[in-house]
Amino acid sequence: MTSTQSPIVRMQQLNKHFGSLHVLNNIDLEIIPGEVVVVIGASGSGKSTLIRCINGLEEFQSGSLDVDGNELLPNGKSSKALQTIRTEVGMVFQQFNLFPHLSVRDNVTLAPMKVRGWSRQDAEETADKLLERVGISDQADKYPSQLSGGQQQRVALARALAMEPRLMLFDEPTSALDPEMIGEVLDAMRELAKEGMTMVIVTHEMGFAREVADRVIFIHQGEIAEQGPPEQLFDTPQHERTQSFLARVL
Ligand code: ADP
Ligand code: MG
Repeated sequence: MTSTQSPIVRMQQLNKHFGSLHVLNNIDLEIIPGEVVVVIGASGSGKSTLIRCINGLEEFQSGSLDVDGNELLPNGKSSKALQTIRTEVGMVFQQFNLFPHLSVRDNVTLAPMKVRGWSRQDAEETADKLLERVGISDQADKYPSQLSGGQQQRVALARALAMEPRLMLFDEPTSALDPEMIGEVLDAMRELAKEGMTMVIVTHEMGFAREVADRVIFIHQGEIAEQGPPEQLFDTPQHERTQSFLARVL
């Protein structure tokens, strides 16, 4: 990782309001290719909104945002860039959002066939490789409701990877899982990080954050209150707000 690489995400002075609520306040954030950034902070601090802005799921009101050379404009005035970004940025949510009426394999092949125009054969070959990679190749013909939460979340990961994303966003991917299933999802994410995927991860799994993050960002009331390498942020937090947050969650 070198600082001379140009960022894949460049957010400058970004502001986001929900009505009178100022949810993101002058956010500056650059992410370089291959970087793993973990976002932490209290509930309601703006973590989800921040990452949802990156793939255009939320509009912002002012500032600038460039994702892999595609410029998203304030107030949603950028439909072309939005289309490109949606195909280049993968997202995994707390709720798995799988298509219930499709088999596991068809969940993974749908977008590459529809959006990328892949043949069924190519899409299925890729899907089977990805399902193997996340450790559920034996579940390909089942339906989501027949799988455990941990398995469903790994399907969601495979589905996002099928689009060959340049960047992956994760919004509390293990928060809806039973404790015994958290590890298998984190393992799959850990592998992805090792392979060099650029990742932005909102999580409360602080041990995981410490292990995989190149950088941890602490959000407080819509502002980046503090950021740094995990050892620095977790062991010697500089700001009182970071200290009191960590005292509550660690
Ligand atoms: P976090 O992910 O850190 O818990 P969010 O980004 O979800 O925080 O929310 C930040 C703030 O924005 C909260 O006060 C939340 O209630 C508010 N908010 C989030 N989504 C909406 C929405 N669609 N409409 C209005 N307010 C929202
Ligand atoms: Mg959230």
